[in-house]
Amino acid sequence: TYHVNIVGGGLAGSEAALDLADRGIAVSLWEMRPERRTPVHHTGGLAELVCSNSLKSTKPDSAAGLLKEELAVLGSPLMEEARATAVAAGGALAVDRTLFSRAVTERVEAHPLIEVVRREATDIAALARGADAVVLASGPLTSDGLSSALMALTGRDALAFYDAAAPVVMADSIDRERVFRQSRYEDASAGGDYLNAPFSREEYERFVDELLCAERVIAKDFESRELFQACQPIEEIARAGRDAPRFGALKPVGLTDPRTGRRPWAALQLRAEDACGQSYNLVGFQTNLTFPEQRRVFRLIPGLEQAEFARYGVMHRNTFLDAPRLLDDHGRLVSDEARALGAPIYVAGQLGGTEGYCEAIRSGLHVALAVTADLRGRVLPPLPPDTVWGALLAYATDPATTDYQPMHVNFGILRPLDPPVRNKRERYGAYARRASEALDGYRIALEAAGLMAP
Ligand code: FAD
Repeated sequence: TYHVNIVGGGLAGSEAALDLADRGIAVSLWEMRPERRTPVHHTGGLAELVCSNSLKSTKPDSAAGLLKEELAVLGSPLMEEARATAVAAGGALAVDRTLFSRAVTERVEAHPLIEVVRREATDIAALARGADAVVLASGPLTSDGLSSALMALTGRDALAFYDAAAPVVMADSIDRERVFRQSRYEDASAGGDYLNAPFSREEYERFVDELLCAERVIAKDFESRELFQACQPIEEIARAGRDAPRFGALKPVGLTDPRTGRRPWAALQLRAEDACGQSYNLVGFQTNLTFPEQRRVFRLIPGLEQAEFARYGVMHRNTFLDAPRLLDDHGRLVSDEARALGAPIYVAGQLGGTEGYCEAIRSGLHVALAVTADLRGRVLPPLPPDTVWGALLAYATDPATTDYQPMHVNFGILRPLDPPVRNKRERYGAYARRASEALDGYRIALEAAGLMAP
């Protein structure tokens, strides 16, 4: 029997452990809690949800819904437990976090091929010597000891400790009647690379009022102060002075609102996030607000009243690898230092550069398939880029991707439809149909490769 060392009994690690063990591969699952705690976990349970209890939408024509379909079709044990411990949540899948974590812990501990090692793992070389493969799934709060060992394999610059990303909104949810296209200091007739959301004085004051009292994720000391000097969240800038954002991210100089012919009181610039302009980044809006508060407060920005968020801004301790440079499509570390170890090193979950609960689960499942294929000499079928996970992984491991920030699945990174579909509902439906067909093909390929039971 093959033996795999997995570090981290979170969402990705627990999923990978169960998937591998179900395929007859023995697993040691290293989890440092409860002995060593993280700043955000509260229990010693496996698969603890650190924040919201929602695994997001179940709508079949949403990216989150499609991800759930993938997990269900591929037989994810954690998705099964999530459904079994679900609480009523409208069009979303939310779980009773205590029951969910307990169910996963019991299932893992009861598996005859899984040994749970309740210790911090820090020596990657020793883990590699003791197994046929190693999976690092230690998450955004990877312990310092393990981070240091990882840096020795990747170089210091390849491991980020803080995430400072501004939110991204879907292009078709922006009110084009209110925003205008113009680059700063250029004539509006020149087109321009930016959409500008113009504030009147009253709108600005109201926005700042709400920004200042909005709930933040981190009001604790565990975040480094350096972070806030280097990369200030927009609400901290406003806290320094009500007008400070008007001289920073919201400065209106060089812009003329075509509706008034005048410079607005303040303006937010939005820049296309992807080549096809399907989603837009709120420029300079790094934030530490909770996700619901971002939705509430940033929807006060003129033109963003109906904004749908492809990605929320995040600013928290977040250890993640520069995936485009370091991971291949099997989730394997490709650095020379990693290859020199006795066994291949895989990375799953948020440490591998994706964001979100279901994404972490899907990543654990993907790496389990990859490890199984690699150990047993089978060919891992390529992930179809038209599935939401395939699209995310292609983006996250494309060496051409620069300044990568962890991201959750979204339609903004899917290959555009050809011909384009203008109506949003129909477009999402078309994406969903295309994704389901691609998933069907992938499942059949996995069966043919002997990686999935027919
Ligand atoms: P985790 O679930 O964190 O699992 C990693 C495990 O590794 C932990 O149990 C940890 O104790 C263990 N570990 C770490 N180092 C070691 C070591 N050296 N040895 C042994 N064990 C170790 N996503 C959402 O979809 N919704 C949210 O609301 C949400 N909120 C978030 C809030 C915060 C503060 C953070 C940091 C992230 C949040 N995320 C959220 C993002 C992400 O989905 C979660 O962090 C998710 O839990 C990541 O799964 P994971 O398996 O990669 O890591």
